[in-house]
Amino acid sequence: MRALRWHGARDLRFEEVAAPPEPGPHEAVVEVAWCGVCGTDLHEFLEGPHMIRTGPHPLTGARPPLALGHELSGTVVALGAEVPGVAVGDRVAADPVWRCGVCYWCVRGEYHICPKSGSVGLASPGGFADRVTVPIAGLTRLPGNVTDELAAVAEPMAVGLHAVTRAGVRPGDNVLVVGGGPIGVAVVLAARLAGAAGLFVSEPLAARRETLLGIGVTEAYDPRESDVRREVFLRTGRIGPDVVIDATGIPALAAQAVSTVRRGGRVVLAGVGHGNVEIDLGQLVFYERSVLGTLGYNFDIPRVIDLMSTGRLDASPLITGRLPLADGAEVFADLAADRAKHLKVLLTPKGL
Ligand SMILES: [Zn+2]
Ligand SMILES: [Zn+2]
Repeated sequence: MRALRWHGARDLRFEEVAAPPEPGPHEAVVEVAWCGVCGTDLHEFLEGPHMIRTGPHPLTGARPPLALGHELSGTVVALGAEVPGVAVGDRVAADPVWRCGVCYWCVRGEYHICPKSGSVGLASPGGFADRVTVPIAGLTRLPGNVTDELAAVAEPMAVGLHAVTRAGVRPGDNVLVVGGGPIGVAVVLAARLAGAAGLFVSEPLAARRETLLGIGVTEAYDPRESDVRREVFLRTGRIGPDVVIDATGIPALAAQAVSTVRRGGRVVLAGVGHGNVEIDLGQLVFYERSVLGTLGYNFDIPRVIDLMSTGRLDASPLITGRLPLADGAEVFADLAADRAKHLKVLLTPKGL
């Protein structure tokens, strides 16, 4: 079969590779329909390895070169064990998180923070290929009215849904989302589903603000031109947002989020970030504000598929490009040169 494999930074090769072996008892093999390009993939492409390990992964044993890609949909071609509700030939979305299944966190359902966990496309060969091995526990059968394309964005949507759940957004809350990239848009869509009244976004790129206004945010601010903290404060009756969700991972913006959220409000950090940030403890203690981290999702992908199937969630604004996997190396180079060009690009190993 063919796969777009990561050999090192700036070195992606579309090449012939061995097809996945027969699945083990915790595995399934899926014929890929679509697989989305994530910021994580771009990061690995530009200056990896970050999440890719150069030695064998402790759980999967896989090591590079390997195909990237963890936001995928497709058709089941082999199951390593019987799974209720899923059969060979079914169209599925895949939760790509490998988990040990026996640790403190796994047995409590927090498999996404299992110390050994890793993702398909980073800890094992990924979905930028004709076929991919995925965790059997992560399969969700697709209802007839959820397309393969939309199912491929169930994974990034699940990140947004998980962040909004962590934030405890309630009907009538005013929510500020910092950053209008793919995760920011997913957070906005999920916050709207949770009943957010005012939905404010801070995003420097005009095209992304347009998209956000198109999906019904209350205001989309350019942080270079507006004092977002003051604007939202005024728009919320001089109270401030109940919830601020950062989708950028930029340390300075996390500190800003703390001083922006209302007294008693919640800040949720959803951007993949590192680095130190200085926060005045008084900003937390005297105003009883909370700050939470959020990582990925657990059990959120089936919820997203249900929301899509029942017509409550239209995630199509996330998808801005559909291209053949054979052009994958160029697509990555293009995105690296101009990340603003797209929200989410989907690649398919099948013909377009
Ligand atoms: Zn991703
Ligand atoms: Zn575990």
